Amino acid sequence: MRPGSGTTTRRLLLAFGALVALFAAASGYALGRLSDIHEGTHALREVGGRAREARELATAVRDQYAHLAHTIILGNDSHRHFHAEARARVEALTRGLSAQARDAEERAAVADIQASGDALDVLYRDTLLPAVLAKDARAVEAAHGRALEWVNRIQARVDGLTERWDASMGVFEAHVGAVERDSFRWALLFLGGATLFAAGVGVYIGNSVARPVARLSEGAARLARGDLDVRIPEDDPGELGHLAAQLNRMTGALRAHQSQLVQHEKLAGIGRLAAGVAHEINNPLGVILGYARLLQRRAEGPLAEDLRVVEEEAVRCQHIVEGLLDLSRPGRGPVEPVALREACEDVVARLSESALLGPVAVEVHGEGVAWVQPPRLRQVLLNLVKNAAEAAGEGGRVEVRIDVDAARVARVAVSDSGPGVTEEARARLFEPFFTTRPGGTGLGLAVSQAIAEAHGGRIDVDAGPLGGARFTLSLPAPPREQEVAA
Ligand code: ADP
Repeated sequence: MRPGSGTTTRRLLLAFGALVALFAAASGYALGRLSDIHEGTHALREVGGRAREARELATAVRDQYAHLAHTIILGNDSHRHFHAEARARVEALTRGLSAQARDAEERAAVADIQASGDALDVLYRDTLLPAVLAKDARAVEAAHGRALEWVNRIQARVDGLTERWDASMGVFEAHVGAVERDSFRWALLFLGGATLFAAGVGVYIGNSVARPVARLSEGAARLARGDLDVRIPEDDPGELGHLAAQLNRMTGALRAHQSQLVQHEKLAGIGRLAAGVAHEINNPLGVILGYARLLQRRAEGPLAEDLRVVEEEAVRCQHIVEGLLDLSRPGRGPVEPVALREACEDVVARLSESALLGPVAVEVHGEGVAWVQPPRLRQVLLNLVKNAAEAAGEGGRVEVRIDVDAARVARVAVSDSGPGVTEEARARLFEPFFTTRPGGTGLGLAVSQAIAEAHGGRIDVDAGPLGGARFTLSLPAPPREQEVAA
């Protein structure tokens, strides 16, 4: 998996998941509370209905007693029928209460009401009414006294039940009220919290997704306008940062490619021009050089000195022309495996023989073989070692290190103890005619780079171990088995 892959998806899932989880939790809580309120209200209605029926029963019992009293007062049975109706109503209400009794205590109370009601009815029909009709005042009084006891007993039971159910209603009301208040508080808290949380999620998504995407889009737009110096911040740890890094790498590669193209175009242009005029210039130059040498042999004193200067300058012109010609044909000819150690030692020996190294100590370390045209390799090595020796100066040191890495790239690193290369010079080192040396042509490194590239390699420069610059020539190495041939 690519580094940072899925991070944006994870972030979005996390943010929206958290929001959904919050809403789900809040909805779950609200549903729970609603069901609490629903149950509480239902129970409240039930108990309220029971208490109302108990009150109706109390009224019906008083009604029954009223007809009993009217029977005594009127002294006839004209209220017998009304009494029976009231009794039926008491009975029906008692049956209703019996079905609604919740526990043993309530059931016992209702049973007692039922029994007392039955007893009252029997007393009315079998004792009180016959005594009234018989005008037996004493029997009537006794029966009335007992009837009153039954009525009071029923009233007391009904009152007990009513109080009990009123109390339950109070409890349910308090519970429902508490749940309502609680739900309201939580709803307010959730509203405020959800708003803050949603704002936080918005800011989080903005920072971790929208902003990097906007920066990417801005960078891509600048790139599309041809601005190759654009650099997109890579601080995002996810795939957006990875994408920014890739875009930056792509821009860097484009920049390098573009400057390489420009360089190649420049070299090709110079090469074409050089190839066109070199031949014409070379011949007259050869003639000038020949005459200058001839005249030098004949001349004496200051004239001989002047002719030596003419010769020197003509030689310099020849070098420039040769360099220009090299730029136009850096890699023509067959390549072969070349032992780098021997090539380097040979170059050092030649330079030292021709006193071009001066009092500079040159060491060669390591071994390796590269695919290259031997004279071209010698030309590059000569240039690099001569430059290093010049930079190191009197009493300086130059070290040549050869190695071949696992990817079969052979390297020759030439380090010196000179002043090194400034940042500014480093960008122009390989441009034709860039020189800081009096009398330099500025073609050596441009030609060397052209040769290295023509062989599928390159020259890099950085700070070396001896305190000065390090120029590293990289070339393709042959497979191991072919090294032996070299
Ligand atoms: P020239 O030697 O004619 O100047 P080159 O192309 O060989 O041309 O070198 C170009 C420039 O690169 C030199 O003038 C010098 O400024 C710089 N340069 C090359 N080699 C070194 C080195 N080893 N240390 C410091 N600067 C160097």
